[in-house]
Order: sequence, then structure tokens, then C-alpha cells
Amino acid sequence: MLLTTVPDYHMHTPRCNHAIGDVIEYAQVAVQLGIKEIGFSDHCPMPNGFDAQWRMSYEQLDAYLSEIEAARAHFAADLKIRVGLELDYVPHHEAWLQKLSDYYDWDYLIGSVHFIGDWAFDNEDHLDDWQHKNINEAYVSYYDVVAESAKSGFFDVIGHPDLIKKFGHRATANDPAVHAAEERMLQAVKQANIALEISSAGLRKPVAEVYPHARILARAAELGIPFCFGSDAHAPGEVGYAMQDCVQMLDACGVSAIHSFEKRQRCLLSLR
Ligand code: ZN
Ligand code: FE
Ligand code: FE
Ligand code: ZN
Repeated sequence: MLLTTVPDYHMHTPRCNHAIGDVIEYAQVAVQLGIKEIGFSDHCPMPNGFDAQWRMSYEQLDAYLSEIEAARAHFAADLKIRVGLELDYVPHHEAWLQKLSDYYDWDYLIGSVHFIGDWAFDNEDHLDDWQHKNINEAYVSYYDVVAESAKSGFFDVIGHPDLIKKFGHRATANDPAVHAAEERMLQAVKQANIALEISSAGLRKPVAEVYPHARILARAAELGIPFCFGSDAHAPGEVGYAMQDCVQMLDACGVSAIHSFEKRQRCLLSLR
């Protein structure tokens, strides 16, 4: 029988200014759903006011950690609570990523690409920017930044691996340049020996599809790339969102295990 629940490793807190609910409330929903393990991965602080309205400040990191530590003690009998961050991969911020990575004994760090150069391609406030873009080229640039993020060595997991599709902009089917970029991204992930996130968040966005696309899932499975699950919950009600659909998609691709993390060590959880 297929597992009915798996760890959910992608959830936010109101410190990022676009999520609601206390850590305790997210944990309560997880317990109600029979989930045994969750992890918080709020949007990391960035230096010099970079994208500041969408993330916690550096000064808020301690409160983030202590809120999670308190919840961890509170739920000790029912739920494992892991702690991580969703780090933005922006080239040339390596020193900053190192500083965040050294800040705490994290269970895992998710690397996410939300920027191509200075273009915040997944930001609703900048949706108009898409009108001036060549979609295929945007996909290629995106996958190339994700590949770089995998090679950077800072991350345990690649978050929402084809976020570029969020608003429903589709690359031309079978475009060879896009396919080659996808393959370069997956090879970089494989080489770096890190995990891909299967994220149900895309189902709640205009694209209405799990991240990553079934073709990428199948190829990643073929390459033996490890997976973990994330709902990318920005509200307690989103915890575990479409978890079972994601587990079934993995199973259909022949993936036999999902992964959890503790102190940046990956642990395998058999799906059957
Ligand atoms: Zn967010
Ligand atoms: Fe993200
Ligand atoms: Fe997120
Ligand atoms: Zn995310």
C-alpha cells in the first residue's frame, strides 16, 4: 500500500509578509491530517533591502527559530518539526548564503529561484513584464539559473523546480533549447546529489499543475534523483495540500521513496 502521508517540508510564517498563521496552527493542521513530520522553510532575509517586502528581516531570524523550537517541544509526542529556510538563489550572493547557512544547525535548506537577473518573474506585481519576454528564452534562462543554484552547493533541495510556469506561460512544446536546458538542470541536480521538491503549490496558481511538470518528474525519476514533498503553505489550511496526488505521481513514475532531512542528512522513506 502507498503511504497516506509524507513529510511536508515547505511552509511559511507571517514574517515573510505574505503568509498567515502561527507555527502552532500549521502544526495542528498537520497533526489533524495524520502527517508525522513537517518542516518550516520561510523566505530568507536578504542583504541591502533586496526584495525586503517579501521576506523576514535578518533581525527576525531568532524569533523565527525560537517560535519553531517552542512548537517542537509542544508537539514532541505527535509530530517531528524540522527547521529550514527557503533561500533565494541570486548569483553573486554566495557570501550571504554562507552566512545564513552558518547561522543555525538547519535540518535542510531549500534553494529557490524567484529571479532571473533582476526580473522577479513569479511576482504578481510584475506580471506585465511577461509581455516583453520571449517565453522559450525565459524558460531556458530560468533552468540555467536553477542549474547554477544546484552547483552552488548551498542547498539540500531545489524548490518548485519549474516555477517559471506559475502564471501559465508555456514554452513551445518540444522546443529543443528548452528541453536541453531542462536536461542541464536535472544533470546538475543529479551531479550535486541533492533533492528535487515535488510541490503542490502550482495547483493553487494559474498554471494549475504540480511543480515540476510530469515530463521533468519522469526524467528525474529515471536519473534516480531524490524527491521530497512541499505544499509551500502560506496558511495553515494549505498544509499537506494535495499530498496524496503528489505521492501518486511519484509512484506512477516508479519513484519508490521520498526523503526527509535532519541536520542536513537525507533519510529515505519508502513509499510502499
Ligand atoms: Zn512565499
Ligand atoms: Fe518560492
Ligand atoms: Fe515557499
Ligand atoms: Zn516557495
